[in-house]
Amino acid sequence: MLMTQSVLEARTKLRHIMAHKAKTKWKRQEYRKDDTCRYCKKEMHLDTNKKNGSLATVDHIIPTSKDGLDDQGNWILACEACNSKKADLIIEDTNGYDHL
Ligand SMILES: [Zn+2]
Repeated sequence: MLMTQSVLEARTKLRHIMAHKAKTKWKRQEYRKDDTCRYCKKEMHLDTNKKNGSLATVDHIIPTSKDGLDDQGNWILACEACNSKKADLIIEDTNGYDHL
């Protein structure tokens, strides 16, 4: 069956939406278990409108830019600051969590 470009684009968009939903659900579940950053241990929040404190984000243990998968086996809950500092490094490259 020949698919038109718009059907393929719609499927890709739907796949992205489903992946985003799965990641958001995982983040909330992990946050409920422990609301501290897995790297720096600071308390985080989930409110994107909040100006103060550390926003909880999903970091990729092995960055996707280094062939890490975008699935929960490769996700870790990290504050925005640590996630940003870690960037596309693999944790061994940072000499451990304390240096983030
Ligand atoms: Zn942190």
